Amino acid sequence: MDDIYPVSAAAAAGTRCDAATYAAMHGQALADPDTFWRGQVDRLQWVRKPRVMGNWRWDPVNIRWFEDGVLNVSVNCLDRWAAADPERLAIIWEADDPAVPNRRLSYGELLGETCRMANALADMGVRRGDRVTITMPMIPEAAVAMLACARLGAVHSVVFGGFSPEAIAGRIADADSRFVVTADAGMRGGKVVPLKAHVDAALAIEPRVAAVLVVRHSGAEVAMVPGRDRWWHEVRGGVAKVSPPEPMGAEDPLFILYTSGSTGKPKGVLHTQAGYLLWANLTFETVFDYRAGELFWCTADVGWVTGHSYIVYGPLSAGATVLMFEGVPTWPEVDRFWAVVAKHKVNIFYTAPTALRSLMREGEAPVERHDLSSLRLLGTVGEPINPEAWRWYHRVVGKGRLPIVDTWWQTETGGAMMTPLPGAHPAKPGAAGFPFFGVAPALVDADGRFIEGNDVSGNLVLTASWPGQARTVYGDHQRFVETYFTAYHGLYFTGDGARRDADGQWWITGRVDDVINVSGHRLGTAEVESALVGHAAVAEAAVVGFPHDIKGQGIYAYVTLKAGVEGSDALVADLRAEVRRSIGPIASPDHIHLTPALPKTRSGKIMRRILRKIAENEHGSLGDVSTLADPAVVEALVAGRLNR
Ligand code: ATP
Ligand code: MG
Repeated sequence: MDDIYPVSAAAAAGTRCDAATYAAMHGQALADPDTFWRGQVDRLQWVRKPRVMGNWRWDPVNIRWFEDGVLNVSVNCLDRWAAADPERLAIIWEADDPAVPNRRLSYGELLGETCRMANALADMGVRRGDRVTITMPMIPEAAVAMLACARLGAVHSVVFGGFSPEAIAGRIADADSRFVVTADAGMRGGKVVPLKAHVDAALAIEPRVAAVLVVRHSGAEVAMVPGRDRWWHEVRGGVAKVSPPEPMGAEDPLFILYTSGSTGKPKGVLHTQAGYLLWANLTFETVFDYRAGELFWCTADVGWVTGHSYIVYGPLSAGATVLMFEGVPTWPEVDRFWAVVAKHKVNIFYTAPTALRSLMREGEAPVERHDLSSLRLLGTVGEPINPEAWRWYHRVVGKGRLPIVDTWWQTETGGAMMTPLPGAHPAKPGAAGFPFFGVAPALVDADGRFIEGNDVSGNLVLTASWPGQARTVYGDHQRFVETYFTAYHGLYFTGDGARRDADGQWWITGRVDDVINVSGHRLGTAEVESALVGHAAVAEAAVVGFPHDIKGQGIYAYVTLKAGVEGSDALVADLRAEVRRSIGPIASPDHIHLTPALPKTRSGKIMRRILRKIAENEHGSLGDVSTLADPAVVEALVAGRLNR
């Protein structure tokens, strides 16, 4: 029996969306999308309001929303709030080092900075449609650079600031980008990240870049190439603080963003102007049940889609105030997240399971030290959250009273797709709840037949388009078609497996490619990992299959232990017993490999494809490792592998 956390009276009070509203909106969005979306377009300010709503086909693939509409995204995120109340706070910035003073930018100031940067970019030669690569620390100028591109109608491609020169160069080439915005260096966990030096090395590999704008942030010494590089603080004073917004067609490109690379070579996903913005705006307000004046903190980096949609475009298009944090959860102390929540009185906190597991590892005391009474809502995104981590989040951070929204979505979906809504849905630890308005999930078997009814699992597909859907893979529409629309004709294939439980709630069971088939039984990675994480000694677990003579596939589990726990044969036996107890003997791991760390993408997700190669003894061919956060972790795992 799953435990269920009903909607609390506090969450229901004043909600934008109670159960009846959800039923009505969700029902209408599927049955009569035209009327539904016609009722939503006034969320945005248009130069010309669209008359056409959705106009899409998935064979051949051609996706358009609001196509006759004209607008400017930066106007929607800035001008309309600055006009109403220029003093309203847009961004509160917290530095990596807690001793560095905070910055506070009002909507009026953010608009002025954005216009200045738009003018500086225009002086560098940036024109409508040009691709601009942005690789920045988590500072307000990252958002300013994105919005400045939007103001000019240029297409931004934000590349996470932690990437290597090779990875930056590859993305510059893929996007055919001739402009870069960066900073001298970023600070993360007390360490300097030499961004400008990385860009210089990247441009030595990929010389097509004509101009680089450099924000001075850390004060680190950097080399400036005359004629190519210019300092933002030097040009800033010489450009006007007004800039006419470029009127953009709804289907003009807004940005390119590379996926996390969990399953292979990252894809340059392309999002367009109006549909993306409307989806980010509507999901932000509804999923987080945002209330005027609240402070929203999404801990993601702007280099990932979560940062695009829930630090920049969703909140700012809703006139919200966001906290932007440069640092990491565990520096200078393991209580940093909670110290920041208490310091700024954060109301809504949105983070990833990987961060929660690393904090759980440290116990409850670091959380208990801080006054978290400002919090009203918690959220998670990025991977399936193990029920044990969910309960910890709920009990220790949420004091047993705060709703948690577990939002399932993808770079390709632009914004949240499935989640419990705090005022409408009871939550189950580990479940991604219900589809958002206009989202039509379904399960299919390997042959593409629909799996009906409840208490069933299969491959997760979507049967209808939504405004936030990616339109293509930049420069490679064929890859877009093959990746998402070819496995099941006429359907969007997510790549994820899912279960629809007896109550119709959705659970993500892991990547379909990672499903393990033991003696004909199909096991999702999430289920086995959650059983291991349910053991008191375990911090984190990743399981993969490997070829097994008798069973077809065996189970290889990689496990990290909580701080202060020693590994032993007895503990390994106990872990095996735990999996048997919670799932059954079929799921009992053949190998349990205790390790101090797991290989992760730079966005913090476990890279099971690499673990699979090691378990298969195929570590000579690991595939694309450009998004791997720490290669040393892989070397140690190869050296210590149990499956020789
Ligand atoms: P790539 O597509 O390059 O392999 P990626 O899929 O990790 O990388 P993202 O777009 O960042 O790139 O991640 C989307 C995926 O993350 C989803 O398909 C799903 O597997 C997982 N995911 C995100 N949120 C959740 C969630 N709340 N519950 C379960 N899984 C989630
Ligand atoms: Mg993906």
